Amino acid sequence: MKKKVIIIGAGIAGIASAIELAQKGVEVTVIERRAFPGGRMYSFMDNDTDELIDNGQHLMAGAYIHFFNILKNLNTFHLLEFQKSLKVPFIDKDCNKSLLDSSAFPGKAGFLYGLLRFSGISFNSKISTIKLIRNLLNDNVECEGLTVAQLLVVNHIPKDITERFWEPLCLAAMNLNIKDAAAQLLANVLKRLFQKGRTSALAFSKAPLSNLIEPFNKWFLNIGGKVIYKTNVKELQIEENRISVILDNNDILTADAVISAIPYHAFMKILPEKYHDYLFFKTLKDYKSSSIISMYLWLDKNISENNFTGMIGTKTQWVFNRRNICEADKSIIEKYPGHLTLTISGANDIIDSEQETLVMECFKEVKTAFKSDANLLAWKVIKEKRATFIASPGMEETRLSQQTPIDKLFLAGDWTATGLPATLEGAAFSGVLAAESVINYFEENKNNNMTTKY
Ligand SMILES: Cc1cc2nc3c(=O)[nH]c(=O)nc-3n(C[C@H](O)[C@H](O)[C@H](O)COP(=O)(O)OP(=O)(O)OC[C@H]3O[C@@H](n4cnc5c(N)ncnc54)[C@H](O)[C@@H]3O)c2cc1C
Repeated sequence: MKKKVIIIGAGIAGIASAIELAQKGVEVTVIERRAFPGGRMYSFMDNDTDELIDNGQHLMAGAYIHFFNILKNLNTFHLLEFQKSLKVPFIDKDCNKSLLDSSAFPGKAGFLYGLLRFSGISFNSKISTIKLIRNLLNDNVECEGLTVAQLLVVNHIPKDITERFWEPLCLAAMNLNIKDAAAQLLANVLKRLFQKGRTSALAFSKAPLSNLIEPFNKWFLNIGGKVIYKTNVKELQIEENRISVILDNNDILTADAVISAIPYHAFMKILPEKYHDYLFFKTLKDYKSSSIISMYLWLDKNISENNFTGMIGTKTQWVFNRRNICEADKSIIEKYPGHLTLTISGANDIIDSEQETLVMECFKEVKTAFKSDANLLAWKVIKEKRATFIASPGMEETRLSQQTPIDKLFLAGDWTATGLPATLEGAAFSGVLAAESVINYFEENKNNNMTTKY
C-alpha cells in the first residue's frame, strides 16, 4: 500500500515537498486555499492597463538549486534569463553611476576584483570589505548573535561602503535593514553565492511569475498526485497515532503524515491551542514580518537600457525595467513604451504611506537619477505586509525544524529552519527537507505497517 501524505499549501515549499514525495511513490494530496499554485509568487491582470503583473519583482541567483529543480521538473526553467556573471548597476540621487562587475574572473575572485573596481567608494573601504567577505566565506569571523550593522561596526567597515554595498545587499537578500538582519544568515547567503563559478549570477523570469509554476497542476496529476484548490484547512486534528486536517466545510481528511507548508501566522491558526505552549512551538509567537512595497509604473517612454538598477540614497531601492525583462503584447508595448517596477524592501516603517504620494515621490527620484522626461501614464501599488519573516539574530537560532515533536506532523515554508533567508530557494529547500523527514519517518516506522484511509 502506498503511503499517503497531505500537504497544506501550494506555495513553493508545498510544491517542492509534493514533487519530492510523488517522485518517491508516495500518494500526495495538496490542499490550497486559493485557486492557483505559487503562494507569495504570483501574477494577476492589472485591469487599468490590461497587462499581467506580478505581486512583486522576484530576483533569483544561480545558487537557487532547489527552486530551479522545481522549474526543471515543470519544464519552465527556460523562462528564466541568467546573467553570465554577477553585474549590478547602481545610480545615486545625484545621477552618479557605478557598476559592480564580477565578470573579470570566475566565482569569488571575480566578485572581489569587481568590488575593488567599484567606483564612488574609498580604497580603504573596499579593502576592509574584501577582508570581511573573505573572513565570512572562510568562517573566520564571529557572527553569532550579531546584526549585520553590528558586524560591520565590529569589523570597522566605513560608512560609504555600508551605504553603497552592504545596505543594498542586505535589503535584496534578506528583505531587512542591516539593523535588523542576522549577520550569520547573510554570511550563509554569501557562501551559497560564491560556492561555484556562476552561482552568484542573477536571474529573473522573462514571463509573468505565475507562468513558472502553472504547469504544476498537469504535471502533478500525471504523476498520480491530487491538488484541491479553493479549500482552506481550518484546523489540524491530532489524536494518538492519527493525524487529520479539518476543512472549512468540516470534512476531515486523514493521512500517514501531514506537511504544513503555510506561513507561520497561518500555521498558528490551524495548530490546536493546547500545542501553543509546547516548548517547540513557543517561539512561533516571536515571529514577525517584514513588508515589501512594489510600484508598477507605465510610462510614455523607456528610461534605461538596464534590466535593473540599484538606487542609492533614495526611498526607491531598485528599479526593474519590465519592458526589457518581461515579454508583453505588442499592443501594450505600443501604448505604454515604458514599464517599471520600483521596489522598497524592509518597508514596515512606510507601509501605511498614502499610495499616490509614494508613487509621485519615487517617480520623481527615478526621473532625476535617470535624467528622464518620461510621463507617468498609469500606476499600481502592491503592498505585501507579510512578504517575509524577520530573520533577526535571536530569531535565527529558534527557527522551527521540519520535523516536529507531534507524531506525523512536519513543517515546510520559508520561515522554517533552513539556514537561508525567506526566499524562493529557502522555501524550496524547506520543502525538500520536509519531504526527506517524512521519508525517513516512514522508513523508521515501516514495521508498523499502517496506511491510513482518507
Ligand atoms: C513582494 C515580494 C517580493 C519577493 N521577492 C523575492 C525575490 O526577489 N527573491 C526571492 O527569492 N524571494 C522573494 N520573495 C520571497 C518569496 O516569494 C517567498 O519566500 C516564497 O514564495 C515563500 O514560499 P512558501 O511556500 O514558504 O510560502 P507561501 O508562498 O506563502 O505559500 C503558502 C501557501 O499556503 C496557502 N495557505 C495558507 N494557509 C492555508 C490554509 N489554512 N489552508 C490551505 N492553504 C493555505 C497560501 O494560499 C499559499 O498559497 C518575495 C516575496 C514577496 C511577497
